[in-house]
Amino acid sequence: MDLNKITRENIKKLKAYSSARDEFQGKAEVYLDANENSLGSPLTKWYNRYPDPHQVALKEAISAIKQVPASQIFIGHGSDECIDLLYRSFCEPGKSNVIVCPPTYGMYEVSAGINDIEMREAPLTRAFQLDVEKIESLVDDDTRIIWICSPNNPTGNSMKYSDVELLLNNFGGLVVVDEAYINFSRQRSLTGELKDYDNLVVMQTFSKAWGLAGLRLGMAFASEGIVSILDKVKPPYNINQPTQELALKALQEVGQVNDMIQEIVAMRDELVDVLEQMPLIEKVYPSDANFILAKVRNATDVYHFLVKQGIIVRNRSNVQWAGDCLRITVGTETENTRLVDAFIAFMKQFKTASHSN
Ligand SMILES: *Cc1c(COP(=O)(O)O)cnc(C)c1O
Repeated sequence: MDLNKITRENIKKLKAYSSARDEFQGKAEVYLDANENSLGSPLTKWYNRYPDPHQVALKEAISAIKQVPASQIFIGHGSDECIDLLYRSFCEPGKSNVIVCPPTYGMYEVSAGINDIEMREAPLTRAFQLDVEKIESLVDDDTRIIWICSPNNPTGNSMKYSDVELLLNNFGGLVVVDEAYINFSRQRSLTGELKDYDNLVVMQTFSKAWGLAGLRLGMAFASEGIVSILDKVKPPYNINQPTQELALKALQEVGQVNDMIQEIVAMRDELVDVLEQMPLIEKVYPSDANFILAKVRNATDVYHFLVKQGIIVRNRSNVQWAGDCLRITVGTETENTRLVDAFIAFMKQFKTASHSN
């Protein structure tokens, strides 16, 4: 892939902002270079200083766990920032187009709209797999990104590697694989393929398996060339100091995270078993994620019933191929039990109602 060919014109010419912490990176005793408050802050003294714009320590810790060189890691304010930066770096507003495969994560479309980029749709097949032929038929000279979500939100399944590899081999733009749910999947991450494909971008996040959605921290793994362009375009201090510290701390607890992943996967499989027994549930789609997609009779009625019980799930009943579907996050043991009880209560109420008619 010719990176120069797909990089936006103004970004090619852009000279990155050079922050105070860029110009001097060593250790000093007196910092009078960034107009911070030298007296401290109402909180702890530490936060009066700007954070590391390059997140060096954090990238080294991620590199060790993910087996990806630090120079191939970009860190964003959530994956959502990575998505936006990919548009702003590689797509020309009013000219470029991208391909998405619905039903899928909504931010690819929203971000395309914000950046005035045409979005072309290649719906997943009935089996929720990529329609490679359709994707290829939509590609033209102005196609810059193919968005692939695997495991996919909201369907929960992983995409076939052979299909993704076909696209990587034949497409001259970026193939972005969003692996937000990869830790819950039977499939391995595509980060291992970065060596072989310079048009591959793999996104992961701290928001799901790592349990840190509140921090807003996302990762993009890609070639050094792609990462250095994203670095140039991002706001200099996009990851704040407390977030960098907390994420570093969390990264030392991989064992605990792996235990949680195992527990969630076990509870997911249990929940699937229970739901599949219920007459109300028409189908539970196989899940590689920490949520399940279930086809439910009278999905919208059930949704509102659950809300009244204080239980919020995601109503996906108006989504293509996912009609009458609810997307349900795997909760704690107690929460899952409450959900199942609420389904039972709905069925009882429905029975009573139909008797009285
Ligand atoms: C939850 C989710 C993300 C996470 O986004 P963050 O901005 O990192 O919280 C990314 N992609 C998909 C498909 C998701 O479902």
